[in-house]
Amino acid sequence: MEDILEGIIVSKLNNHLKLLFNAIEKKYGEQCGFTSQSLYADYSIKSLKSIRTYKRKIKFVAPLELDLEHKCNARVWGVGIPRVVFNERTNKWEYGLQCQRSRLQGMEYCGLHKKNRPHGNILERPPHDSFERHKKIDLKIREDK
Ligand SMILES: [Zn+2]
Repeated sequence: MEDILEGIIVSKLNNHLKLLFNAIEKKYGEQCGFTSQSLYADYSIKSLKSIRTYKRKIKFVAPLELDLEHKCNARVWGVGIPRVVFNERTNKWEYGLQCQRSRLQGMEYCGLHKKNRPHGNILERPPHDSFERHKKIDLKIREDK
């Protein structure tokens, strides 16, 4: 009996997934190079057990180290995918990195950032929302202790 029920539930769920994958293909398939069939092959539900045992893989990143005495206070994007991580201690999202150039004498910023700071000040919120799409809930800050 349970097997029959599971079969019905799995097929219902997969029917919904097919509709969802069709819609995703329509919107992004050509641009990103996939079809609803390839999505279905990778992500269709085989059994309910595989749902129950699904575990998110958590990646850890080093804590953000700020040098507010010697280094420029500008926020930089970093290389490639920016560091955007939720800090559970401060209850705040951290966006990007601190510029690693030295400050100009008597200034908060380096020569490059004294006039223009496209990503703002590391101590303030970014002046744009470009970091938002890089928020990842499976990224955590490594606690070194
Ligand atoms: Zn700088």
